[in-house]
Amino acid sequence: GSDTPEPVIPFAQPGSLTRVYAVASGKGGVGKSSVTVNLAAALAKRGLAVGVVDADIYGHSVPRMLGTEEKPTQVDSMIMPPQALGVKLISIGMFTPGNTPVVWRGPMLHRALQQFLADVWWGDLDVLLLDLPPGTGDVAISIAQLLPNAEILIVTTPQLAAAEVAERAGAIATQTHQQVVGVIENMSWLDLPDGSRMEIFGSGGGEAVSDALTKTLGARVPVLGQIPLDTRLREAGDAGAPIVLADPDSPAAQALIKIADGL
Ligand code: ADP
Repeated sequence: GSDTPEPVIPFAQPGSLTRVYAVASGKGGVGKSSVTVNLAAALAKRGLAVGVVDADIYGHSVPRMLGTEEKPTQVDSMIMPPQALGVKLISIGMFTPGNTPVVWRGPMLHRALQQFLADVWWGDLDVLLLDLPPGTGDVAISIAQLLPNAEILIVTTPQLAAAEVAERAGAIATQTHQQVVGVIENMSWLDLPDGSRMEIFGSGGGEAVSDALTKTLGARVPVLGQIPLDTRLREAGDAGAPIVLADPDSPAAQALIKIADGL
């Protein structure tokens, strides 16, 4: 033990008015970062003060999806986060040179997250969203310790094999005593030109995670929405203009905006 006091994380203080959501998934590639960025953009558009911590050490992609390559600056002892589309953000990728992978071990990750939460000048946020890495690793555990009040949002695809993994990601809430707000099913179907829906990844994954977590946690964990597959969602993410802003009338954007409105 050292004599250095633990840094104060304003979001974890009793009476903090910031809602904190940790966006989690079982597997990678299910659209967790896309969902995080679109929820953030939708909330910011509604006039809320929004921050995002990109803590996905394997796939930090939030800055690109928000269209910024800006780095944070240091003012005295505080880190000033870049802001894009009305969203303040900090990414683990901003502190690694070039496109090098993050190969930090647990304790170093923990300290980095602690810094993101304590030493970044967030101002008064209404909502803080954390994009977690997939699974139940070091970051999820650190966040549970640093932000016990963080509420968990689970992203899954309709595929039942993926849903089982997502259940495990949600079930850590029993140990961490965090609240799971709900399940977001992404890539639910593809709307075909003839008006029919093609269920590329099957169906039922969101319901399955919702039912399983409701049982495990003994509190209702609802499905908050289903987001269809949409080329424009992917393109918008690549272009740094989230679909909720770029094409707000599309069914995928409508689903995301409805979820954001319900938070
Ligand atoms: P994760 O954060 O879970 O790894 P991403 O958000 O990076 O997932 O999404 C993985 C890929 O799938 C990205 O290329 C993204 O643009 C694409 N994607 C995510 N959701 C959808 C969707 N509903 N429709 C089309 N493409 C999607």
